Amino acid sequence: MTRIPVEHPRYESLMTRESVVEGVQMGITSRQGLIAQGRGETFDYLLGERTIATAAYAERAAVALLLLAQNPIISVNGNTAALVPGTIVSLSDMTGAMLEVNLFHRSDARIHKIIRHLKSHGAVNVLGSKGNARLDINHDRAIVDEGGIYGADVVLVPLEDGDRCETLVNMGKIVIAIDLNPLSRTSSSANVSIIDNITRAIPNMVQFAKDMKNNKIDELESVVNSYDNNKVLSSAMYEMSEKLKNMSIERGIEWI
Ligand code: ATP
Ligand code: MG
Repeated sequence: MTRIPVEHPRYESLMTRESVVEGVQMGITSRQGLIAQGRGETFDYLLGERTIATAAYAERAAVALLLLAQNPIISVNGNTAALVPGTIVSLSDMTGAMLEVNLFHRSDARIHKIIRHLKSHGAVNVLGSKGNARLDINHDRAIVDEGGIYGADVVLVPLEDGDRCETLVNMGKIVIAIDLNPLSRTSSSANVSIIDNITRAIPNMVQFAKDMKNNKIDELESVVNSYDNNKVLSSAMYEMSEKLKNMSIERGIEWI
């Protein structure tokens, strides 16, 4: 791994980039995953690389949904496995949601590498190798486990493909997405759209799960019932436009 000095102003962002590169070298992340990370970075730059208040609000509602679910599942792709292997296992433990590996660029070798990687970070049971059910889409993210995503009532899909997100919603599942782009088809079709970097969202969600795990059902339900996803999407766009305006002014570009 390239050494990045801690005092570098973009330290966090560069370290995240290094983790995705390492994921590719380990054979758990696809090369296309590097490009997806780049798209994410652009939106994160516009957000100021921080968790905005409405993203934290979405993360809390998402955890309440996972805690209330009968059969919650966390879908794991190559970028997620490279970026947050330890905290995604903690989130699974804290909420009782099973982990299922699901890949756009699917191969049995990659599925098993990711399962081994998650197990080396403490996971006991990881789904995704059976692939004995299919969603109604014509690429490999359609392949799921019958006892996992196929039968789930609540699914957390970090860095999801827009098609599959829409399909899961149409199947009547509650879908929680983590996607830095508030305008992606994924963000606009999910029930809960977390507009935050997965590297911040998952640790925040682990903390919310610790805080809420002993809450009563009606307390969790009231978190869910008062949730407004439109507010989350519009405030992410507002924050980005404010950031653009303020940065333009800082750089001496007149904002007209
Ligand atoms: P859609 O199909 O929903 O319109 P897309 O084609 O833009 O989305 P992909 O390129 O398939 O999406 O997937 C990458 C998505 O994941 C992008 O929207 C990108 O912003 C987001 N993303 C990438 N890295 C991260 C990250 N570290 N944290 C959160 N989101 C990320
Ligand atoms: Mg896409």
